[in-house]
Amino acid sequence: MPIVRVALDVPIHGLFDYEVDEPVAPGQRVAVQFGRRQMTGVVMETAAQSDVSPDRIRKVTRVLEDSAPLSSSLLKLLGFCSDYYHHPIGPTVLSALPTRLRSDKPVPVRRDPAFRLIRDPSLLPKRKAIARRIADALAMQPRMLSQLKALSSRVGSELKWLEAEGWIEQCEMPAELPMQSLQLANAHQLNFAQQQAVDAVVQSEGYGCFLLHGITGSGKTEVYVHLMHRMLQPCPESGRREGGQILLLVPEINLTPQLEGYFRARFPATELVSLHSGLSENVRLMNWQQAQSGSACIVLGTRLSVFAEMPRLSLIIVDEEHDGSFKQQDGLRYSARDVAVFRASQSGVPIVLGSATPSLESYHNAQTGRYRLLVLPGRANADARLPDISCINVNQSVMSDGVSEKLLREIGLRISKGEQSLLFINRRGYAPVLMCTECGWLSNCKSCSGKMVLHLKDRKLRCHHCGSQQSMPVSCPDCGHAGLHPVGSGTQRVESLLQARFPDARILRVDRDSTRNKRAWQKMREQIHANEVDMLVGTQMLAKGHDFPSLTLVGVLGADNALYSADFRASERLFAQLMQVAGRAGRADKPGEVLIQTAFPDHPLFRCLERHDFDAWASQLLAERRMAGFPPFVFQAMLRAEGKSERDVYTYLDSARAAAIALQREVEVFGVVPASLARRANHVRAQLLIQAGSRKVLQQFLSDWRIDEIPKGGLHCSLDIDPLEF
Ligand SMILES: [Zn+2]
Ligand SMILES: [Zn+2]
Repeated sequence: MPIVRVALDVPIHGLFDYEVDEPVAPGQRVAVQFGRRQMTGVVMETAAQSDVSPDRIRKVTRVLEDSAPLSSSLLKLLGFCSDYYHHPIGPTVLSALPTRLRSDKPVPVRRDPAFRLIRDPSLLPKRKAIARRIADALAMQPRMLSQLKALSSRVGSELKWLEAEGWIEQCEMPAELPMQSLQLANAHQLNFAQQQAVDAVVQSEGYGCFLLHGITGSGKTEVYVHLMHRMLQPCPESGRREGGQILLLVPEINLTPQLEGYFRARFPATELVSLHSGLSENVRLMNWQQAQSGSACIVLGTRLSVFAEMPRLSLIIVDEEHDGSFKQQDGLRYSARDVAVFRASQSGVPIVLGSATPSLESYHNAQTGRYRLLVLPGRANADARLPDISCINVNQSVMSDGVSEKLLREIGLRISKGEQSLLFINRRGYAPVLMCTECGWLSNCKSCSGKMVLHLKDRKLRCHHCGSQQSMPVSCPDCGHAGLHPVGSGTQRVESLLQARFPDARILRVDRDSTRNKRAWQKMREQIHANEVDMLVGTQMLAKGHDFPSLTLVGVLGADNALYSADFRASERLFAQLMQVAGRAGRADKPGEVLIQTAFPDHPLFRCLERHDFDAWASQLLAERRMAGFPPFVFQAMLRAEGKSERDVYTYLDSARAAAIALQREVEVFGVVPASLARRANHVRAQLLIQAGSRKVLQQFLSDWRIDEIPKGGLHCSLDIDPLEF
């Protein structure tokens, strides 16, 4: 009987052999018995015979045929990820699938009727706005209910009305869609640099990786849109006989829900689906299947969408490619940006990495010629000026609760002019720690090595690492002294300071606490746009891609924390974040100003920032990294272990270290050290860093290291390739 080799979601390397008595293709899902469990797996290979003795081979319980098999190119991509990230193939394959496809419960078969237009839609009554939109969509070609759903939440009832009134009728969906007359709404005339960028990518034959470096407001999105427009169309010369599919990866869709609407509006006649963790399981499955069937031409998604099946993939775009959220921090610890680059090369299509502040890895690749650099040097709107950025030296300023008088004066000035200000501080809560002025007691978390943050609004101490909380003590738990003192500032403290100083001002605090409710953030954005807000106090949520036309002043507090960080990437991230938050100021006709409070106004980071000079900053950082032997000049892997017993954690890592040294390779094996948060939720955490001068040497070493053979006990261990956090 033929054999299938199945990937299963178990933490064991390798595939599992099963017998099957019907023809099964690689990529097909099967239900099998594993130990005592019934599991769903994916057939990776078929074979005529197995090395396992025949009496130990079980039969496949059921072949699941409710969803099309995974393509060989996706299986190959997942195989690459499993090898590169040294993660077992089973969990790698299964974690790439929508949750519904990981179970053996039948995928619901949706009734998804198609509709076509049978009367001239221009005669539709004006007041039936949604019906008109549906008719417009149907004017080009018949569409399925699932495709129309995105137009409005009221599509169902409007379709019924249209059908009853004789405007549309149900039909069979034609197997071959007529060539779409692709329209691009509101196409702007590209400036010279934008046009050159578009041409360079369009003219690339097959794979090419392009780094699109453009400051905030330089019109990167317009370049994306034009590129997408070109690559959606058939291009017989380059072998693309049908229209293509585009994969557009963005950092966090929840923060920018308007993004989806934006791209829908630009491509009104093109099917677009989104893929992110905020979708219900059923919607995610449906969208995934539309990408897989090819009916969705644009896939807009967060990191997990890098594994979406797209049979006619013609272009990948990674927006904000430097963003840390492209890196998955558990399970398969992949970087969606890096996987996207591999996928593009595997599929022979171009990929564009866009950013105002590229990661040093990508920037270095562009400088050494691995990637092609495309630069957008100016703002797309020639009248819009870059904001003026300058520093306020906190050592020479009068300060109240961490905010300088100069900044407060400038805020007052903006209020009197009816303009908005934003105070950026990347710390939520009232104060990062509570201290006893008598004995020096600090609000340490009992379960972590971190401090508990004071949330004065509900009088609680909260640990942001393990989530534990307690009431705020009225007196010192150690000495009984009543003088407990909040140290440092968070968003809540800045908010109350501003409220006290400007009692009539309308202040909005935007952080994870104030936007916990799903609708809250959207409501806040509407308030900001309606100019119902004078001042914003917020964390990095506010830094990302929002357009607030009345915002003319940005104040930055607490920036120096990153300069003290032990993480060598902290200053790279700080620069990117400050550039991004500075980009919020003065986008319309009003010039913007950015004031950064710091004790180190002469630090090169601020100097380069004041000149908007990313290149100078990046060159300096690269020179430092080269000297110190840090990425991108070396390649790293981090073995982490976490457990209740300190001895077990260190014994495990010490054994792994001994095994690494015994291999005698050209790799640097560092000492076992505590993690930056050495204890979390009563678990001891430590790590071991391995470094090599080339990716190949590192990969070869990791393959031979055999850490799986070291007993783990109950420890939680992980190997992180190209780690971003230390
Ligand atoms: Zn005390
Ligand atoms: Zn804690």
